Amino acid sequence: MTTSLNRVTILGSTGSIGVSTLDVIARHPGRFSVFALSANSRVEELAQQCKIFRPRFAVMPDIAAAKLKVRLGELGMTTEVLAGEQQLAWIASHRDCDTVMAAIVGAAGLPPTLAAARAGKRILLANKEALVMAGQLFMDAVKEGGATLLPIDSEHNAVFQSLPRHFANNSAHGLTAVGVKKIILTASGGPFRTRPISSLADVTADEACAHPNWVMGRKISVDSATMMNKGLEVIEAHWLFDAGPEQIEVVIHPQSIIHSMVEYLDGSVIAQLGNPDMRTPIAYGLGFPERIAAGVSTLDLARVGKLEFEVLDLARFPCVQLAFDALKRGGTAAAQLNAANEVAVEAFLHRIIKFTDIPDILEAVMATSTVQEATSLDKIMAADEDGRIAARIRVRERKAVLQL
Ligand code: NAD
Ligand code: MG
Repeated sequence: MTTSLNRVTILGSTGSIGVSTLDVIARHPGRFSVFALSANSRVEELAQQCKIFRPRFAVMPDIAAAKLKVRLGELGMTTEVLAGEQQLAWIASHRDCDTVMAAIVGAAGLPPTLAAARAGKRILLANKEALVMAGQLFMDAVKEGGATLLPIDSEHNAVFQSLPRHFANNSAHGLTAVGVKKIILTASGGPFRTRPISSLADVTADEACAHPNWVMGRKISVDSATMMNKGLEVIEAHWLFDAGPEQIEVVIHPQSIIHSMVEYLDGSVIAQLGNPDMRTPIAYGLGFPERIAAGVSTLDLARVGKLEFEVLDLARFPCVQLAFDALKRGGTAAAQLNAANEVAVEAFLHRIIKFTDIPDILEAVMATSTVQEATSLDKIMAADEDGRIAARIRVRERKAVLQL
């Protein structure tokens, strides 16, 4: 009997998650084939991925796509090159694609991921920003499209693994119906967990991106340093598991060995452990419900020695509180916060603002924002734009102060 290959589209294949996904896929040639790849700017990298994995389609923005076409011609490849955002949605919802890895960073990942949901695909969701911006809309699209949503963010993947298996098919009745008291998200605390608060204003982009346990793209690395990443993950957990803010707790766990936990009404706490390597949740999503090899080294607990836990210090990490506040406000508040954060992080990475300006800017944007109901993609994209504009104004003010 021949089993058919699982045909995978990777949105953001040149990024950290994209590369790890291809690494897992390469370990199982009889199980997966690559249907389509996409990237934003790295033409040569995408060309090399096409050479190895031979996808039917590759998508890039216009100018990069033209370069890719030339390069693939030189390499004698038959991969068809497509250009633009609409084509991203097209490869994510194509009838010949079974699984979509959503690994574009930021708000740009929302439209194609939503298209995959509406088309009923198996979605491996790394792009947390899509859920933060459009949680209700996205979860409705998953339900209506008959899609299967598998969380790839390591914390949410750990929670998913620690919930009863039937929860995924029956989440309509909520966490308490399956005996869950709360979700405990672990957080490493990032590179600045113990650094004197007074010195945080002077940290560089490279210092912020040097995460102690994980190797990731630069945006999520800065988010980990401000801990906005954990804030976004609280909102992500709310939507994925239908958990109220009071059912989600964050605890600092510097070793990143326990990826998150679920506490049940009877006092049991179930956790998922492993080395901090994103290939574990990626392989979980690709193989689900089976387990497949990921290339991840064995967890050597004796070598790890100890697992420590600390209370989250909200004075050091105000971004987590801002995310809880946005979650409680509801509507488009989280979309605005996410958009403002993308602008502030980008400005920090380009040395336009200081590290400590990031939470200040977000706080100022949220304090003056008006929140709408998040009932359509148009309303959400308008809120995203508002958040960006408000954040850019604040960035300009800071830039002026820095230049004095
Ligand atoms: P990255 O910066 O390494 O890669 C991002 C990818 O998205 C690249 O392939 C890039 O070409 C593509 N991209 C960027 N902007 C785009 C645009 N405007 N249009 C189309 N494509 C675009 O990021 P990453 O670390 O791989 O993270 C990807 C997503 O996964 C993020 O949402 C992040 O929060 C999430 N995530 C990452 C990790 C991790 O360990 N890296 C862990 C959990 C969640
Ligand atoms: Mg995470």
